[in-house]
Amino acid sequence: MKLSLYLGKYKNVKVFIHWTFSLLLLWIIISNLRQGIPGVDILWTVIFVLALFCCVVFHEFGHALAAQKYGIQTKDIVLYPIGGIARLEKLPEDPKQELWVAIAGPLVNVGIFLILSAVLSFTGFNIESLEEIKINPTTIILYLASANLILAVFNLIPAFPMDGGRILRAFLAIRLPRAQATQIAGGIGQFLAIFFIFFGLFNNPILVLIGIFIFLGAAAEVSHTQQESFLKGFKVNDAIMMKFQILAFDAPLSKAVDKLLNSQATHFVVVKDDVAVGTLSRNEIIRGLKEGDENIAVEKVADFNPLKFETEENLDDVWKKMMSENRKVAFVIENGHFLGILDQENISEFIMVKSALGK
Ligand SMILES: [Zn+2]
Repeated sequence: MKLSLYLGKYKNVKVFIHWTFSLLLLWIIISNLRQGIPGVDILWTVIFVLALFCCVVFHEFGHALAAQKYGIQTKDIVLYPIGGIARLEKLPEDPKQELWVAIAGPLVNVGIFLILSAVLSFTGFNIESLEEIKINPTTIILYLASANLILAVFNLIPAFPMDGGRILRAFLAIRLPRAQATQIAGGIGQFLAIFFIFFGLFNNPILVLIGIFIFLGAAAEVSHTQQESFLKGFKVNDAIMMKFQILAFDAPLSKAVDKLLNSQATHFVVVKDDVAVGTLSRNEIIRGLKEGDENIAVEKVADFNPLKFETEENLDDVWKKMMSENRKVAFVIENGHFLGILDQENISEFIMVKSALGK
């Protein structure tokens, strides 16, 4: 994860904080200083923001650990100024599972709210004794409790792909096909996103960012789910490519460059003693040129550990795996033998053709 600081990991889920987060802290400090607020008070505000983002991490762990229960791993959790994102390797397709994964995050915040409220009542905190709105050692728990309640409620707004929108999609998907459920949830999400942006313009710039994030996120997921639905029912066999360009493992990279520039091919199968042993993509060629030169051998930059799929595997599952691991090309295997390749672009074309034909 570039431009992010690694904070640590729990249950195999790594937590990163994005560099832009420092801008948020800087903005808080500078805007407070300009208002002439004393340093101690600013320090407490910063402590509050950090504590709040700890709660956001717990929220994301709610999603990640719920997903783990269904055998879905989480690549990482990244904290941005507008909130955290848990990158699940895939989303559960069973609506009930998706429901639990989506609701687990807000439930964590409700839990924190209840615990902090109990602490407050235990310490005999009296809200009427509050004289001014100021974060200090006696009020920070109150503010954290309220903020967690707000976080829970805000995330439950049905603006897909926010948690509430995912819950809505899960409910719809119990009755409707998943692609249709996503389309409806996505439409509602985009409508609410426009409202967020409009409202945020006059009140809160962060809401504008969140609105844009929701709007684009909804569009991307709707098209993604639609593509997936077109692949349903097809097998790897239906999209296999038997024609492809090959390169010897010990050929110089210049040969790959030559083929890249003089043909339609963007990736190659690397062979050794007439056996396919790896793949070489455009990105790897470019990386090889940057790090070395045209004369280094193909084997220095090729991927000798490509994804391998059997001919009878479901095409939608395979495609999801290729997308989530960002692999442009994969091997197709039958009875342990190399048969051909799957190519991400080719599958996209397959989707376009199938959607044009209305399946
Ligand atoms: Zn969430």
